[in-house]
Amino acid sequence: SETQTDAALTDGFNLVVDALKLNGITEIYGVAGIPVTDLMRLAQEKGIHYFGFRHETSAGHAAAISGYLRQWPGICMTVSAPGFLNGMVALANATTNGFPMILISGSSDRAIVDLQQGDYEELDQMNAAKPFAKAAYRIERVEDIGIGVARAIRAALSGRPGGVYLDLPAAILPAVMDAGKGAASLIQVVDPAPASIPADSAVTRALALLAQAKRPLVILGKGASYARIEKDIRQFLETTAIPFLPMSMAKGLMPDTHPQSAATARSKVLAEADVVVLVGARLNWLLGHGKPPQWAADGQFIQLDIDPVEIDSNRKIEAPVVGDIASSVRRLLEGLSATPVKAPQDWIDSIEAHKAENAKKMAARLAARPVPLNFFAALGAVSRVVQDHPEAYIVSEGANTLDVGRNLIDMTLPRHRLDVGTWGVMGIGMGFAIAAAVTQQAPVIAVEGDSAFGFSGMEIETICRYNLPVTVVIMNNGGIYRGDDVNRSGDGEPGVTTLSAAARYDRMMEAFGGKGYAVTTSEDLESALREAVASRKPALINVAIDIHVGTESGHLKKLNPGAAQAAK
Ligand code: ADP
Ligand code: MG
Repeated sequence: SETQTDAALTDGFNLVVDALKLNGITEIYGVAGIPVTDLMRLAQEKGIHYFGFRHETSAGHAAAISGYLRQWPGICMTVSAPGFLNGMVALANATTNGFPMILISGSSDRAIVDLQQGDYEELDQMNAAKPFAKAAYRIERVEDIGIGVARAIRAALSGRPGGVYLDLPAAILPAVMDAGKGAASLIQVVDPAPASIPADSAVTRALALLAQAKRPLVILGKGASYARIEKDIRQFLETTAIPFLPMSMAKGLMPDTHPQSAATARSKVLAEADVVVLVGARLNWLLGHGKPPQWAADGQFIQLDIDPVEIDSNRKIEAPVVGDIASSVRRLLEGLSATPVKAPQDWIDSIEAHKAENAKKMAARLAARPVPLNFFAALGAVSRVVQDHPEAYIVSEGANTLDVGRNLIDMTLPRHRLDVGTWGVMGIGMGFAIAAAVTQQAPVIAVEGDSAFGFSGMEIETICRYNLPVTVVIMNNGGIYRGDDVNRSGDGEPGVTTLSAAARYDRMMEAFGGKGYAVTTSEDLESALREAVASRKPALINVAIDIHVGTESGHLKKLNPGAAQAAK
C-alpha cells in the first residue's frame, strides 16, 4: 500500500534535520522563505529550537557566537541569493574571528543558475561564498547529505575554527531515498577538533627564552578563551608571576581584577616587554602588528597558535609553539619544573607604580557626574552593575562606547565579553545578545552606541518575541562618534556623522512589548539597569549622552584619513 511505501522512504528534508540532530545541533538561527521554510518547520517539529530573525546578518552573528560559546558550530539558515548574501557578512566575520559556524542556504536550480538563464534569486552561492568562508560545499544528491553535514562540521571546528558555507539546492530537499539507506548515510563526527600536541623542542625553546626574560609579558587572546584554558593559564601565570594583558574578548579568562593584570599599564608593558608570550592572539592591527612605536624593536616573541601559517605573519617569532592551546599551555606548565620561570620583581614593581598612577587618574574621571552625561560617567554606572552580576554576558559595539567600556567594565568570568572582535565590525549586537541568552540561560547586557545599534536594532522584536533576558543599553549621543557634526555646505542638511539625538530608542522596545527606560543621569542609569537585569525580561535603556563628547573614530583616529585641504 501507499503508507508502506512511504514508511520505507525518507527525503532530503528529513535527512538534513536528522544529520544535524545526530551531530548535536540544538538550535537553528535563520529567516524563513523559499526554499527552506518547510525545512525549518520540520527541524522545529523534530525538536531543534528555531529562532526566527528579522535579518540574516543578525541570525548569522547569533550562530557564530553560539559557536564560540559552545566550541561547536552554530547554524544559520537562509533563503537563496539576497538572504544568503546577508548571511555572508556574518560568515566572513566568523571566519576572520575563528568562530565555528555553518551557514546553510537554499539555492536555485543548478542547471538554470549555471547557464545564467535567470532563475528566481539566481546566484552561484557556493562560489560566491568561497573567498569569505573557511570552506564551502554543495550537496547535489540526497544520499550525500550525511557526508555534506559531516564535512561542514569538521571544517568549522578543526584547526583554526571558522565559517563554513553549505549549499542546499532546492531540488535535493523533496528528493526521496530508501529510509534505511538514508539513515545509514548519516555520519556522527568523531573527534572533529583533535588535540594537536606541540613538539617538545618547541616547548623547550619557548621556556628557555622566557626563563631569561627581564620584562616578560603574556597576552591572552580570544583563541585562548575559546580553548577554555582558564585553569591552566591561571596556574602558569601565578607560578611565574608574569603580568598579563587580555585582548578584548579574552577579558575574564583571568579576572580583570587579578593583581597580575597589566591592563591599566597597557602602553607601558607593550613598549617595554622584552619577551612576549602570545596565547591565541594575533599580531594584527589590534596589537599594532607587533611593531614600533607600540612595541620595542628588539622584543622577542613566543607564539602559541594552532595555525602554523600565523607564525611570522607580522614580525619574527623567536619561539613558535604550534599546537592547540590547551595542550600547549599544559606542556609549558609541565615544563616549568625543569625550567623555572619567574618574572623579575623590579619589572613587577614598575608596572605596579604605573597602574597606581593610572588608577588615580581614572578615579577622578569616574567621580565626575556631568549632565549631560559623558561616556565615562555612563559606562561607570554600567560597570558598577556588572560587578554585581558576574554571570551576565556583556555584548558591546560602537566606537567610544566600545573603547571606554572595554576599559571600564571589568570581567570576572571567561567568555562573558562578546564584542566586535578582529574586524571591529558593527552590527553584531542583537545577534550576539540573542545567542548568548539562548545558549547560556543568563542575563545579557548589550552596551551599544546609538549608531552601532541601528545595524541590528530591528532584532529587539526578536528579543521580545522569544522573551529573552536581554537589556540593551544605548549610549545615545546622536551620531556616529558624536552628534555635533557640521555640514560645511551650509545647506542645512545634517552632517555626515549625525543621527537623531532626540531619538527615544526605549519606545521602540515598548512598541514590541518590552520595558523601556529613558535616563539622563548615571544614578538613573544604574537603577534602571539593576531593575532590568533582575527582571530577566527584554528591556532597553536610552541613555542621553552629550552630543559634543566622543572621539571621531574612537581609538582608531589614525586609520581614518582626513582631508588635508578644505573644499575648492
Ligand atoms: P584576539 O583578537 O583576541 O587577539 P585573535 O582572533 O586575533 O584573538 O587570535 C586568535 C588566535 O587563536 C588565532 O590565530 C587562532 O588561530 C588561534 N586559535 C583559536 N583557537 C585555537 C585553539 N584551540 N588552539 C590554538 N590556537 C587557537
Ligand atoms: Mg554615537
